[in-house]
Formats: sequence, C-alpha cells, structure tokens
Amino acid sequence: DETPEFMAGVIGDFCESGFANIVGGCCGTTPEHISAIARRVQKVQPRVIPQVEAYPRFAGLEALVVRPDSNFINVGERCNVAGSRRFARLIREEKFEEALEVARKQVENGAQILDVNMDEAMLDSEAGMVKFLNLLVSEPDIARLPVMIDSSKWSVIEAGLKCLPGKPIVNSISLKEGEDEFRTHATLARRYGAAVIVMAFDEQGQAETVERKLEICERAYKILTEEIGFLPQDIIFDPNIFAVATGIEEHNNYAVNYIEATRLIKAKMPQVLISGGVSNVSFSFRGNNPVREAMHSAFLYHAIKAGMDMGIVNAGQITVYEEIPKDLLEHVEDVLLNRRPDATERLVRFAESVKSTGMEKMVDLSWRETPVEERLKHALVRGLVEFIETDTEEARRKYASPLKVIEGPLMAGMNVVGDLFGAGKMFLPQVVKSARVMKKAVAVLIPYLEAEKAGGGHSTAGKILLATVKGDVHDIGKNIVGVVLGCNNFEVIDLGVMTPVEKILHTARDEKVDIIGLSGLITPSLEEMVHVASEMKRTGLNLPLLIGGATTSPAHTAVKIAPACDSPVAHVLDASRAVGVVNGLLAKDNSGYIAELHEEQEKKRQEHARKKSGRKLLSLSEARRRRLRIEMQTDEPKMTGIKTFRQYPLSEIREFIDWTPFFTAWEMKGRYPQILDDTHTGEEARKLFDDAERLLNEIVKKHLLEANAVTGIFPANSIGDDIEILNERGQPQAVFHMLRQQAAKSNERPNLCLSDFVAPKDSGQTDYLGVFAVTTGVGLDELVQRFEADNDDYHAIMIKALADRLAEAFAELMHARVRREFWGYAADEDLSNEDLVAEKYRGIRPAPGYPACPDHSEKQTLFKLLKVPETTGITLTENFAMLPAASVSGFYFAHPRAKYFGVGKIGRDQLADYARRKGVDLKTAEKWLAANL
Ligand code: SAH
Repeated sequence: DETPEFMAGVIGDFCESGFANIVGGCCGTTPEHISAIARRVQKVQPRVIPQVEAYPRFAGLEALVVRPDSNFINVGERCNVAGSRRFARLIREEKFEEALEVARKQVENGAQILDVNMDEAMLDSEAGMVKFLNLLVSEPDIARLPVMIDSSKWSVIEAGLKCLPGKPIVNSISLKEGEDEFRTHATLARRYGAAVIVMAFDEQGQAETVERKLEICERAYKILTEEIGFLPQDIIFDPNIFAVATGIEEHNNYAVNYIEATRLIKAKMPQVLISGGVSNVSFSFRGNNPVREAMHSAFLYHAIKAGMDMGIVNAGQITVYEEIPKDLLEHVEDVLLNRRPDATERLVRFAESVKSTGMEKMVDLSWRETPVEERLKHALVRGLVEFIETDTEEARRKYASPLKVIEGPLMAGMNVVGDLFGAGKMFLPQVVKSARVMKKAVAVLIPYLEAEKAGGGHSTAGKILLATVKGDVHDIGKNIVGVVLGCNNFEVIDLGVMTPVEKILHTARDEKVDIIGLSGLITPSLEEMVHVASEMKRTGLNLPLLIGGATTSPAHTAVKIAPACDSPVAHVLDASRAVGVVNGLLAKDNSGYIAELHEEQEKKRQEHARKKSGRKLLSLSEARRRRLRIEMQTDEPKMTGIKTFRQYPLSEIREFIDWTPFFTAWEMKGRYPQILDDTHTGEEARKLFDDAERLLNEIVKKHLLEANAVTGIFPANSIGDDIEILNERGQPQAVFHMLRQQAAKSNERPNLCLSDFVAPKDSGQTDYLGVFAVTTGVGLDELVQRFEADNDDYHAIMIKALADRLAEAFAELMHARVRREFWGYAADEDLSNEDLVAEKYRGIRPAPGYPACPDHSEKQTLFKLLKVPETTGITLTENFAMLPAASVSGFYFAHPRAKYFGVGKIGRDQLADYARRKGVDLKTAEKWLAANL
C-alpha cells in the first residue's frame, strides 16, 4: 500500500547494507514500484557471495568443521552392540534411557562424533537404530555431535539417515558388491546430505597391500566425484587397519601398509579424510591392556603424522604417546613399524613383564590369528557366528571355487562337530548352534555357487525328506533331527507340519531323496504313518522310512508300520540316534543293518502277539462293575460359566514355567535347577538357560507372543462313562465321552474312568466340571520365520520350545486361579512353583489325547462348548491337533481323590460301545483309539 518511492527506499537501504541482492515482488507491487526500485538500486553493487572454505563439515545440532589445523577427531565407539556387551544388553532390554547415558558419557570423554552400530542377529537392527536415534536427537547435549551410522546393512543405514538432522556420516560403503551397488548407495547418501566412509574393499576382498588400498580408493574417488557429484571433502577413506604380531609373516607389515597408504592417498587426494578402527591393530594382545593402549597410541602417533584424520576409539582410553615407557615404546614400535624380524617375539616376551592393570576380562581371540581353515573349524565347533561371514569370504577368495570351501574346510569342521556329538562330548544345543554357523557360511557362498552354475550342488551324504504327517503339528523334535542330520552332511528337505501323503510322495520322487522321515505327536498320526507306508508300497516307492515323535514307539513301528510296506522302517528314539540309523540304512552294504532291523522287529511282533494273547481284559460290563465308588464332595463354585482372557501378561505367566521339560526338549537329561550345577552337563545347561532367559526377556518385553485363555465351570453329572454338561437352567448342553480301564487288576483295585470323579446323575446331586483352553502361540510363526530367514535354527527352535513352556505355564497359572478364585475350592492355597510342578494341589486337569482320556477328538466338543477358536484363536486340525502348537486344553476335576491314570488297552466291546455313544462308525473310532487297541 506504500508509494513506489517509499518501497524503493526501504529496499535500497537493504541492498546497500549488503543484506540482499535479490528483489522480488508481492501482490501489491505494480510496474511503477519496480521502476522506482530499479532506479534506486542502480548504483548498488551486487552482494559478493562469500567463499566457503572447502573444509570437511559434519553436523549434528552443531557443525563440526575439520580445518587444516584441527586435531585428530575421536569417534566414540561404545554405542555399538557388537563391540560393547553393556550397550548390547541395554538395547536388547530396551533400556534406551541407559543406552543414551553411554552416548552421553562418550561426549563427556571427548568424543567428537558418535558411532552407532545395531548390527546383531538377535536384534531388529533397523528398528533399534530408528528408536535409538530418535531418542538421541531429543537430547541436545548429545545430539550436537554428528552421528556416524555404522552398519553392514544398507537398509539400517538408510533407516538411520531418515532420523538425523545435520550432516551425518555413513559408515560405510564399498566396492565389495561391485560398482552398481556402490553407486546406488553413494547416490542415496548424497541425497540424504551425508558424508561417506569408503572401505578399501572391492570385489576381490579387503585390500591388504599399499597398492591395492590406493587403487581401490582412487577408483572409488573417481566414481564419487566424477559421477555422483560428491565433494572430495565429503569422502572419508578407511584403508583397513589389520592386526599385527599375529605370527604370520605377511601380517607384520599391516600397520606400515596402512600408514603408507594413508600418506599416498593424502598426496593424491588431499581433500579427503582418512579414518580407521584403531583397536584392530592390537588384537594379538587381547588381555593385556597396557600393551594394547601403548600400541594404539604409538600407532596413532605415526598414522596421524602420515595424514590420518579420525579414528574409532575408546575416547576415555588413549594413553599419551610421550607417557609410554621408553622400553615398551621401543618394543611396540618395532612391531608396528616392522623394524626387525624378531619384533613380535620380543614384544610378546616383553608384554608378559608388563603387568596388566585391573582391566576387564577379555575374550580370548587368539583363534582369530590361525589360518582360515582353523578359524572356520573353531567357529563351527564353538558355534560362533561373529566372524563367520568374513572368514567364509576369505576362504572363498582362497579356494578355487565356493564349492571347495563347503566340501573342504566347512565340512571338515562339521565332521568334528558330528564326531564330538556322537561321542557324547557335545550336547544338542551346541550342535544346533554349530548348524547355525554352517548355514550362515553357506549363505555367503550361495550367490557364488549360483553364479558358477554349480547346479547339482555339492556332494552330500544323502538326501532326506522330513515331514510331520497330515493333521499333526509336532515340529521341534523333527527340526532338531533335521539340524543334526544337516550337521552330518545330509541334505534335509523339511516339508514342515500337516503334510498330506501326496505331497510327501511327490517330493520324494521329484527330489530323488534317499530316505523319508515321518514325525507325529498325536495318536491319529500313527494311523497316518501306516497310511503313508502303504501308499509307498502301492505306488512302488521303495525308500527307507524313519519314524519318530512322541506318539510313536518301536513296537508300533514293528507291528503296524513296517508290515505295511516293503522298505525298511526304522524307529528313531531321539535326534542323537538319527545319524547312526541313517548311516546304517544308507551304507553301501546295508544288508547286515537291515537284516538286523528286520530281526529285531520280528521279535517285537512276536512279543506283541504273545502279550496280546496273554493280556487279560475284563469285559466292559465287568470293568464298569469295578468302577471307583467314592463319596462325592461338591464345592459350590464361586462362579459358573465362561471366562475369557486375552493378551494375558507374559511376565506373570513366565513365573509358572516348569523348566525341566525345556531341557528334555533339547535332549539334556536332568531336573531343573540341579541340571545347572551338574558336573557333566552344567556348563552347557547354563548357557542354554541363559540364551533362553535372554530370548524370554525379549518376548516378554516386546509382547512378541500373545497369550489367550478361556475357562468354563459348568454344572455336570456322570452318566455311566459319560459326563454331561448342563447349562444354567439345568439342561444338557454337551457330553464328554470317557474311556474306562479294562485290564484285569489284582487287589480289588478299581477300573478307573474320569467320570468316576463326578457325581452320577441318578444321585440327584449337582456336581461341576471345569473346562479350559490356553495358548501362548499367537504370533509365534512370524518370529520363527524371522529366525529362519536369518539361518538361525538355534533361535527358531528355542522360541518354539519357549512358547511350549509358556503354554504349559499358562495352563498351570489358570488352574491355580480356578482353584483359588473362580471355583474357589482352595481359596487359601499358597504353593511355591516347585509344589505346583509337583502337583501338590487338589484336583487334576487331564488333557484329551493324554492317557486318562486318550481320544483327541473330544477336543471338538470342548472347543464348541467354550467357543475356543473365537475366544482364543486356537483351531483344530482334521486330526484334532491344536494350532498354534503352543496350546493346552483339558478338564478340571476338583474331587480330592481325582488323579491321573492311563486307560490302557481296551476291548472291542468298549470300542463298539464308545463308537455308539459318540455316534461315529467303528472305523473312525478305531482310528482315534489306535493306541489303545
Ligand atoms: N509342569 C508340566 C505340566 C504338563 S505335564 C509342564 O510344564 O510340562 C502334565 C499335564 O499333562 C497335566 O497337567 C495334564 O494336563 C496332562 N496329563 C498328564 N498325565 C495325564 C493323564 N494320565 N491323563 C490326562 N492328562 C494327563
């Protein structure tokens, strides 16, 4: 609204004072304004754009400018899950506040840049990086520093870049995967406004010599500056600091090579920066901190003189060069500068005299200096994944083909594992960890194998197909067998759970497998296995068959499965026997083994026939006459009807875990907690337990599994061997069919049936029955897949085993609450977990499929009554296995005399009676009760 002259005056003053040199209009300007302004500024000189020095600049909330006179820049190394146990634990336990303190401490110790690394297999590294950085940027005294995002995964780096203000540093990119990937990462880094560290690493591996270091850096430099548009000062080279004094001659010059390369890079590309991870250089002296610190300080002294600008160091732990005792310094520099051939020996000898001063116990890393074959073996036998990728890569470069790496050093290592396990010197969890290492190594080689079109794959001891049969979800034992076989150079094809017979046979043919292994947990699976065997015979598939899983037995295998086909059928008791059996079956001359197998099974069949004819079963009516007669005792429940619980706190459930079966699942025999102190198994048991607790902490903390439950308490009466459930109005709403023991017993002992513990209808007395279903398996599949995708069978099996434990614990917890609160007949009960595990309480919770009520199909009625699928998410397979597998369902009997028993063998008369009561045909009932017939 002002006059053109007034506006021209204001703007002219601005221009004259050097504030502005661009003039724009706004909605009120007219051509008259513009001419007035033009006239007014005619004599004003355009502002001179200031020359910004081409110094490297990084920034958090504040800028860090690296001027020619800047000192060496300390990059704080402690926020690294791979390098700091404490930081790793804090991140794992999501104690981000404390983790931030680690960062703050480094700032206080003088770090000028913060390195942040979340690379650990157990972590969701991307999520960890994002969460930590987001918290970090809200702490001004930490966030003022530039951050170095450190990861070997680009996705993690990119996730971090999205969180940071200022100008962070990407640590790192390299030509390792070729130029295309390098260009992609560099372009993105630039787009995010970051500087980059470039490792001297190319398609052929890490550069060790001066020439290669320089050559790779120059090649990267050219691409970055000429193609991507990087400014030289935004490039930081890391020409690889490797360990010296390793006892290997070529390594003696490693420090010199770094220093020399630094000098040459700086001469050719003066504007770039040079960085490096300093503590590598002193690897050989782990455990001797005074020597290590002297080495770091002396190394830095020379490297900085040559042009090293920054380094990843423990900022609080750098000794001053001048303060290193002269004799120590001389020995150290002899080594670093490779000044005499006996330098290493002399320093080693001298180092022993240098008393180490109360530093933390260091991990023994001496194995890192052995030849690559030895390192691979060491990693396999000890189950160490930390270095396996680099070591495998090194072996790949050394050997003519990736195949040779597998068939050579990797198989050699696995053979040692197999031998030690066979000799009982290794336990199952260790073997599974070894297998994880093997898988990770093979994963490194696969792209090269494919590139070589190795096609047929490496030679294995044989191909084995494993499957849990249709309708069954048993998995852990089968997984373990698969892993153990894999460790012994067998190729395993695992078809997973609920596998139809057609798929098993197809795959066996297509993949030309050598053996089929079937697994099952529930009784109907026995029948299913017989079916698979007979289908093999019908279709002429003549392969050896392995049978395993909780429901199977040597007797059933001999009597029912083996006769159904023409090929040898072997029962495998547990994973530790699997290798022996498979080797026997696949041996070139296996006739002796098979003859022995047949002979044993023939004996079993005769034994069975003998037992059968000798077994005295009472008639059903006689057994019923001998029923248990007890005085009924009815406690009026505090509440009846259905109660559901969703997302029950896992932290409460874990308190109820019975750990002994956990060790059994890992084939470690012994009771918890004594097993932890056992002289033979203690050490491994403790490691296993530690790993379990760690994973469990994570599950609880992050709510990785969902726990749902439903319970019901109903008026009920027995009618013969059935139990009738009534609704609130006293009308029948469901019937559970129970089975009665029929074995002839001595001493007037009763022939039990669960219905004996419930008041008969004709007594006129109303009694009650509880029913329940719990699961802790919701969400499990995704977790398992995550571990499997990471080639981590160890944790995949571990998490399944833990989910199973939680499910049983949840059943125990709900049972206790029913006794104390909902039914309330034991309101004052106050038992320790030990006493709960020992079942020192009143009442039982028999589960369908278990000995007192062996028919799994009763779960159908139970599920309908409680609307289990709707309330908890548990479903039933066609053979009544529960899905997810980490589920438990059953009945609550409250009578003080209620106890567990086994129904045992039943007669045809009971089978017929049972089929009639259930309204199913005889054949169906036969299938369900196969184990009791
Ligand atoms: N603390 C154990 C509990 C499970 S085993 C654990 O964590 O693994 C015991 C459970 O198996 C019982 O609670 C019951 O549900 C079932 N069970 C055991 N014996 C049984 C039998 N004879 N008949 C029916 N169910 C039985």
